[in-house]
Amino acid sequence: MKIVILVKQVPEADKVAVDPETGTLIREGVASILNPYCEYALDQAAKLKKENPDLNIEVTAISMGPPQATSALLRCLELGADKAYLLSDRKFAGSDVWATSSAIKEGIVGLEPEFDLIIAGKQAIDGDTAQVPAETAEQLGIPQITYGVDVKINDKRVEVKRETETGYQILSTKMPALITMSKGSNIRRVPSMQDVLDARTKPLNIVSADDLNIDESKIGLSASPTQVDKVFAPPSKSGGEIIDGADSKAAAKKLLEYLKENNFLRV
Ligand SMILES: Cc1cc2nc3c(=O)[nH]c(=O)nc-3n(C[C@H](O)[C@H](O)[C@H](O)COP(=O)(O)OP(=O)(O)OC[C@H]3O[C@@H](n4cnc5c(N)ncnc54)[C@H](O)[C@@H]3O)c2cc1C
Repeated sequence: MKIVILVKQVPEADKVAVDPETGTLIREGVASILNPYCEYALDQAAKLKKENPDLNIEVTAISMGPPQATSALLRCLELGADKAYLLSDRKFAGSDVWATSSAIKEGIVGLEPEFDLIIAGKQAIDGDTAQVPAETAEQLGIPQITYGVDVKINDKRVEVKRETETGYQILSTKMPALITMSKGSNIRRVPSMQDVLDARTKPLNIVSADDLNIDESKIGLSASPTQVDKVFAPPSKSGGEIIDGADSKAAAKKLLEYLKENNFLRV
């Protein structure tokens, strides 16, 4: 059985600022990490491999990004993936979510066409749109189940415990299918020295648009329907007003006055 995991390298979220002049992200000096939700996808693939030794599961990590994204793929190889591909080419630059999904779809079809299951993160902590997996599934014409927290394989079907706002659903679909993961162990795993050494012997290939014969009209800025008007950091909010609750009657009176003064009450 073949599992593809889709992974994205992202800047550490709390260290990124927006340049007020240009509206672009200031990335200098900011460390890059494997997107945490992609880490959950990796964990889930490694877990399925461990739980189903009879299925001979092979895990392939695919990312589209600049050459430095190989470090995110190396982490995947250290923590359970068997091989990895980085789709990297200037022709991919300027891709919005749709053009990114097109490139990923072409990458999967060209590199791992016999896949059974694709596991992605529910969202990237930088772009945060949560659209790439859904659009990739749509472009591949396969079913998708989002917000997974646990996955099981039953014959040719995949069963997913899915998180909702009020609880959980158990959904199942036939494979090939795509799943996104919204939770996992929440612990950044540390590979052993042996894992680190083994990862260096696994295949990690950088693939260009030409290697995959991708039609250039499907990728990059010209294939991106999204227009970005402006990027800006929202103004920071003040700390709010805290009412001391030691004297509950006085606190309730003060709260009532506040609500009346600010027209939150009709009385
Ligand atoms: C007009 C426009 C131009 C842009 N130009 C650039 C640019 O030049 N360079 C640039 O870096 N970004 C660019 N972006 C941003 C880029 O489109 C998004 O970062 C990308 O589409 C992923 O979206 P997201 O971060 O919201 O991912 P989400 O949809 O939130 O990600 C969810 C999951 O999808 C998978 N996934 C997402 N992205 C990838 C990926 N690249 N490879 C593999 N799996 C992935 C992962 O599993 C991830 O957890 C541009 C955006 C727009 C609108």
